[in-house]
Amino acid sequence: MATTPAPEQDIDTLEQIHADLAARDLAPAEHLVDGGYTSPATIHRARNEYGIDLAGPVRLAPTARALPGFNKEDFQPNWEEKALTCPNGATSPPWKPTLADGRPRLSVLFPRATCRACEDRPKCTGNVDGKGRHILLLPQPLQEIQNRVRKEQNTRPWQDRYAMRAGCEATVSETVHAHGLRNCRYRGTAKTHVQHVLTAAGTNIIRLSRHRPGDGSADHLASPTTRFRHLCQQLSEETRIRHS
Ligand code: SF4
Repeated sequence: MATTPAPEQDIDTLEQIHADLAARDLAPAEHLVDGGYTSPATIHRARNEYGIDLAGPVRLAPTARALPGFNKEDFQPNWEEKALTCPNGATSPPWKPTLADGRPRLSVLFPRATCRACEDRPKCTGNVDGKGRHILLLPQPLQEIQNRVRKEQNTRPWQDRYAMRAGCEATVSETVHAHGLRNCRYRGTAKTHVQHVLTAAGTNIIRLSRHRPGDGSADHLASPTTRFRHLCQQLSEETRIRHS
């Protein structure tokens, strides 16, 4: 499940939404969001600062697809001893604190000799020049969240729960592409907000107008036929009649 990280301002917006909801005592127990908003850090902050269970897929390791072998979460950390145990039972020397993109990380390097002698080395280290497996861990609370969510998001119960978001992206896409939500007609955030509210209301009215009282079939919820689709149907019908 690949995701693209959201820009910092989007993360700030999420934080602001949570802060505003909490200030009005309206913080939800659970908030399902697009994968761009979920990282171990945002999940941790939402839980600890606002009591919100932020749910969304976290990014897989960049090498997960290229190396379908052992991922970071397959290694067992010993936080007291500051060591990792690999799936083949080898234990690393104590990890060292480091920085990656200015953020604190823990650098774990398995001994070269141990990995060279390992049959699983090609699918673990991914290198052929005999280096030991190198792993960067997040600080403990974040690493535990990343491990947990990466495992959970592959399970059916998690996917069923997340499926409640189905339709959100389609609605956003509809307001953007069919109703011009990204083109602001006004100046200033107050008027822009009015445009957003009116667009949302208009979207709901259009949807309601399409919703004919049900006759028991699923047809009454079907999307209207686009002109292009209508043309295709017309042409295929004409072709069918010509050949019959
Ligand atoms: S290559 Fe090294 S770290 Fe990977 S499974 Fe083998 S011994 Fe463990």
